[in-house]
Amino acid sequence: MQLKQSIYFHSPIFIQNILTTIYGRVLYQERYGPVYQKRFQELKEKEQFRVHAQHEQLTRLNQFLTFCQAYSPYYQELFKNHQISLPLQQLEELKMIPVLSKELLRTRNADIHAKIRAPILGKTGGTTGKSIQVHYTKEDMQIRMAHLDYFKWTHGVERGMRRASFTGQTLAAATQKSPVYWRMNKTINQMLFTIKNINPQTAALYIEQLNRFNPESIDGLPSGMIEVARHAKKYGIPCTCRPKAIFPTAEMMTREERHLIEEVFHAPIFDQYASSEGAPIVAECRYGKKHLHYEMGIIEVEEDGQILVTSFDTHGTPLVRYRVGDRMTLSEETCQCGHAGPIIASIDGRGRSFIQLKDGHRIFEGELAGIVRAFPNCIERVQYIQADEEEIVMLYVPDERCFREEHEKELYFVLERLFGGQMEVLLRAVPEIPKEISGKTLLIKQLLPEAP
Ligand SMILES: [Zn+2]
Repeated sequence: MQLKQSIYFHSPIFIQNILTTIYGRVLYQERYGPVYQKRFQELKEKEQFRVHAQHEQLTRLNQFLTFCQAYSPYYQELFKNHQISLPLQQLEELKMIPVLSKELLRTRNADIHAKIRAPILGKTGGTTGKSIQVHYTKEDMQIRMAHLDYFKWTHGVERGMRRASFTGQTLAAATQKSPVYWRMNKTINQMLFTIKNINPQTAALYIEQLNRFNPESIDGLPSGMIEVARHAKKYGIPCTCRPKAIFPTAEMMTREERHLIEEVFHAPIFDQYASSEGAPIVAECRYGKKHLHYEMGIIEVEEDGQILVTSFDTHGTPLVRYRVGDRMTLSEETCQCGHAGPIIASIDGRGRSFIQLKDGHRIFEGELAGIVRAFPNCIERVQYIQADEEEIVMLYVPDERCFREEHEKELYFVLERLFGGQMEVLLRAVPEIPKEISGKTLLIKQLLPEAP
């Protein structure tokens, strides 16, 4: 929405709704073209017969590597230096290609970019703020959309159904007087709710609006859903909508948070994983198993649990064995849903969401999220901040109705034990966890400089 931003924020809300719809139509044409239609149909039809996933992956991999060799100077040189001859005869041979680190993607950015038109810009970045530019072609975006829509379709949600989306975008101007923090994108029947304005004073208004709109699906940033759901539960405000499914994106949730959202909004959650760099999608099927959409790429797991992604639909900035910074555990299981994609047992950590101990150990989100479980209901939300190797600051939002002083002592004790006495722990009660510029709230704010 960048170009039109100044016009948007100086317009009355009803004009902003029209602008949102117009912008929605531009995106619509970009995202739902012929490539989208073809892939979406293919995925639906595939449900009817058994496919050989690895065979298909090898074909797609070879097509992609051939493209990289022809259009990206970086890969051309890399394949030459390592005597990679295409086509590969089996998937295992992918391991002969050296890993692409974040540092390489940053420093060799221009060489890695393919010499084709890739007008869609994606930006990635850690908390340290060094961002990396990645480009996509329109076709890349359409393939991604087809897979996302197929994922939703398997859960009974189709395009055009009333959809409520929690977004990190700013929708309301700072000067806006009326408490309207949502806009309608009529092109796809989507009501956008900005999470930037959610706070204890406005949360009830969000619930009212959700009830009025009565969405058939809810998606977007879970931190917004959690805040609204928590408010509804705390004050006993009923949610009358009955969506078919909820699709959170981009952030990790604890088990408790997931249950809370499902309970308050009366619908099951189906989670997905997709990194902003363009990793292949991993999404939950109706049996709750996380399948790799193998048509989009390959995920390898290194010894330390970090993943390498090869993503067939990154033609602007091709990613081959890219160490994206996330962690997963693969599973050998099969699933009765019939999806041929490999199953991911768990997504163990995203990016730099960990606490670094002095002895080299890292504590990841999963473990930290469990801490608050020991204090049911009296702590609403926490954030861990690590700015140096010696000290951890934990912010927490106490539920003023039941939080007592001894709870803080217990909390301190549990954290001391978790960090093995290697860290100073500082506890700070706050009324709210501060939001990032993106609108999200982080569980772990890792501010240590990134290792090269
Ligand atoms: Zn399944």
